[in-house]
Amino acid sequence: MSIKIDVRIEKTAAEAESGLAEKFKEIDEVAFYNQQKVLRAFIDNRVSTADFNPTTGYGYDDGGRDTLDRIYAQVFGAEAALVRHNIVNGTHCLAIALFAVLRPGDTLLAVTGKPYDTLEEVIGISGEGGGSLREFGVKYEQVDLAGGKPDLEAIKKALHGGVKAVIIQRSKGYDWRESVSVAEIGEIIAAVRQVKPDTVCIVDNCYGEFVEKTEPTEADADLVAGSLIKNPGGGLAQTGGYLAGKAKYVEMAAYRQTCPGIGAECGATLGQNRFMYQGLFMAPHAVAQAVKAAALCGGIMERLGYEVNPRPLDRRSDIIQAVKLGDEKKLVKFIQAIQSASPVDSYALPLPWDMPGYRHQVIMAAGTFVSGASIELSADAPIKPPYVCFMQGGLTYESAKIAIMHAASALLDGE
Ligand SMILES: *Cc1c(COP(=O)(O)O)cnc(C)c1O
Repeated sequence: MSIKIDVRIEKTAAEAESGLAEKFKEIDEVAFYNQQKVLRAFIDNRVSTADFNPTTGYGYDDGGRDTLDRIYAQVFGAEAALVRHNIVNGTHCLAIALFAVLRPGDTLLAVTGKPYDTLEEVIGISGEGGGSLREFGVKYEQVDLAGGKPDLEAIKKALHGGVKAVIIQRSKGYDWRESVSVAEIGEIIAAVRQVKPDTVCIVDNCYGEFVEKTEPTEADADLVAGSLIKNPGGGLAQTGGYLAGKAKYVEMAAYRQTCPGIGAECGATLGQNRFMYQGLFMAPHAVAQAVKAAALCGGIMERLGYEVNPRPLDRRSDIIQAVKLGDEKKLVKFIQAIQSASPVDSYALPLPWDMPGYRHQVIMAAGTFVSGASIELSADAPIKPPYVCFMQGGLTYESAKIAIMHAASALLDGE
């Protein structure tokens, strides 16, 4: 199937785009601001081509690796950071943060509702025998959102003496809710510190990086974690994750990522550094492209009568656009159409499958250069009512726009 755009969709897209003119200016402004932060950190840390040299074996004195840690720390306004290609994904990165901080007998309190699906088995909400936090004697409690917003009063009440750490999820994950802004994350942390100042505040920052001018580390978070095949890898990082935050907690995370006593001092980079550096350099721009694509998708789909979240002009704190398709057939069709307008594997037909770590069957379109990278245009959904598609990414606004118009046209075809 080739790219097919219905004339009605051409008109709808043009309308949606003109409605977003002011929004796009704001997005460009955020990208300009964040690009300055990133470029300044590269210059301040005297990045040179030698930083891209591959190391092997133990990876002692890998200057490029250590410099990248300092650059991330500066960009995130944090004391320290740990950026590693051998953190396999966002879930692994968050598991490192949780196991680094929590000890037997402690309680972990989720304060923005149930964490992302793949963390259920890490925490021990589901699954057995895998060595979850629960199996190591860490208890879990949860405060749900109230009307889609963090419930500060309920959070304060839930902070009993056993609570060692709270986890805050910035992005909506597979939920129909607003993403939590950095300002709101700051309010949650302030409320937590009011009641129990020594609580370790951990943020799942996946999909949030560079969408706003500040990061949760600048709102007093102790430890934030994210995936390099999402926003901060800029589409170039081939794999990996990062943690940033207070030096003490980043060090504990490094001990968990390798082992006690070794921490951040070992870990050969095998030639991955240049991709991680160049990806971070590209990230503010790539994220802006993705945020514009998300807003355009929202604008088109809302005009076609679908409920979208966020709405086109709403403030955003992540790159996700949720669209309520309301029907399994439409959902699958939309996601398959996104795949068919991808630069890689366009001929592949995504089908729902039992993906590890997820409760429901999941369907995913990711016709990406880096396998599964969702800073590249991708769309996915758990197969359950009300059949919501979560679309994100787009290395260039233009390519994402083509795919979105193609997918919207495919839905019209089915009428
Ligand atoms: C992507 C994501 C994760 C981690 O998922 P991985 O696929 O393991 O990278 C965690 N939390 C949120 C909110 C996410 O979007």
